[in-house]
Amino acid sequence: MRWTQTFIPTLKETPADAEILSHKLLLRAGLIRKLTAGLYTFLPLGVRALRKVEQIVRQEMDRAGALEVLMPALQPPEIWQQSGRYESASAVLFKVRDRAKKEWVLGPTHEEVMASLMAGELSSYRQLPKNFYQIQTKFRDEIRPRFGLMRAKEFIMKDAYSFDASDEAAQISYQKMYDAYARIFERCGLRAMVVEADTGVMGGKFSHEFMIPAEAGENEVACCERCHYAANVEKAASQTPDPSTPASAPLGLMPEKFATPGVTTIEALTRSPFHVPADRQIKSLVYIVEDKPILVLLRGDHQLNEAKLAGALGTAVFRPAEPPEIFAALNAHPGSLGAVGVQHLAVYADEALREGAGMTTGANEDGFHLRHVDIRRDIQVTQWVELRLVRGGEACVKCGSPLKVQRAIEVGHVFKLGTKYSKALNALFLDESGRQQPAVMGSYGIGVTRTLQAIIEQCNDKDGIIWPISVAPYTVCLTPLNVAPDSAVMKLAEKIYAELLQRGVDVILDDRDERPGFKFKDSELIGFPVRIAIGEKSLAKGEVEIKTRSGELRLVKAEQAVEKALEMLGIRHS
Ligand code: ATP
Ligand code: MG
Repeated sequence: MRWTQTFIPTLKETPADAEILSHKLLLRAGLIRKLTAGLYTFLPLGVRALRKVEQIVRQEMDRAGALEVLMPALQPPEIWQQSGRYESASAVLFKVRDRAKKEWVLGPTHEEVMASLMAGELSSYRQLPKNFYQIQTKFRDEIRPRFGLMRAKEFIMKDAYSFDASDEAAQISYQKMYDAYARIFERCGLRAMVVEADTGVMGGKFSHEFMIPAEAGENEVACCERCHYAANVEKAASQTPDPSTPASAPLGLMPEKFATPGVTTIEALTRSPFHVPADRQIKSLVYIVEDKPILVLLRGDHQLNEAKLAGALGTAVFRPAEPPEIFAALNAHPGSLGAVGVQHLAVYADEALREGAGMTTGANEDGFHLRHVDIRRDIQVTQWVELRLVRGGEACVKCGSPLKVQRAIEVGHVFKLGTKYSKALNALFLDESGRQQPAVMGSYGIGVTRTLQAIIEQCNDKDGIIWPISVAPYTVCLTPLNVAPDSAVMKLAEKIYAELLQRGVDVILDDRDERPGFKFKDSELIGFPVRIAIGEKSLAKGEVEIKTRSGELRLVKAEQAVEKALEMLGIRHS
């Protein structure tokens, strides 16, 4: 491709509304443009990189035995009602109406469509196992579309669905996808980590996420450097901390009310004149679950993990109570709440509180707290359960070493679903003994557009993107510093260009009549892996300059330019 013939609108200035580096670079390097929040157009360079990521995904899916299909993005809401997700996923479902006012759904994912397809096609165990995949546009009504392609309203996903005759067979299908994902991210030049994940609204048995460690990530993952336990903090567990009751705590005292005017936070109670450490306080939160209030108790220095609460409640349909609902339930406002003497509400308490004695909590009377609370004696706990969010430094559940918590971008997700969707949508088969069984399903997603941006988030420097060769929009940028057609420089450039094209190399010839510095800046911003610069001075000595984007520089004989460039790319072209 000749630069002047394509469309690469690079930007000098950083666009004001791009918050994270990869989003800025996508815009500045002329890969994408925003239509409106959460909706982007891929420009020619962006499409080239995207197609390369897609091609890696496709090759690895094919290699793993998955079969490519293409399902409709527009779906009937009935199948979502059948699976129960019309309600549970309603927050992200885009709904549209046709001319007859009938409602449709724009697919955020395709378990329902896939299970309906198999309901019609599947009859015998002999047809199994099967795994189907597609690379297609998904729609999600995200609360906060942001960070460019990272969290968009419309994005490209590779989604795959496996069907097996038994749990053991499903495990094999799962492992194949797990292995394929590891290869995909490696081939994309990404350092991914695999973490245990919460199954959330998908339902199902267990799952893993593929994460790219990055400050800009919207997820937090906990990992143990000793035993390699790694989990999304939504799922992560740590060992229950030792009770924080100091040995000197006076035992046997009964709860005692004391005035705390104006104190409504854990933090305020740690200060003078009270000096109650946060780990000696009980945090009481009111949630509404299917219209009913419940109380959730945590140690004052711990945070609630809502995914774990969902697990304990068996539903994801709950929300924090509003102040009037809280007052109606406990007769006090947030900041003065507690569970002592509460019998009319279910009380879910975090395991870290189990041994708590001599604790301080709200008195359910504005401006008052209770001290000397012994949880087992004074609070009627309905269920003890792990509810707290794991923090860095806590002891690994598996080996006890300190956990590290870091931010990461979720690029892929594999789920072992079980029979939830096959039962709901009748994806049944006859087993060897002629009994009808629901197929055991798995589902596997890769955010293709998010992966593209994650690559940029991980591969860059102060000058711009550093594309891994496998996904670079062009691998070689050929930069003549004189573009007059009859100049020796341009003639050599044309010759090398033709040769690289003939060798099947993705090369772009920067034939713009611009200053060298300007052309170099653009090629560094875009991040082509190799640049061949041809200038009059070096050519007088019969040489050209080859530079990799990661900094290696060589002066080579003009006639060896192609060989050397390929060598520096690590490509063996014949
Ligand atoms: P998230 O937790 O980031 O909202 P998710 O867990 O809901 O994502 P999945 O249903 O697991 O997403 O979808 C599979 C993959 O699709 C994700 O791993 C992610 O890479 C990608 N993805 C999901 N939502 C978006 C989005 N709004 N924009 C871009 N990519 C997305
Ligand atoms: Mg996910």
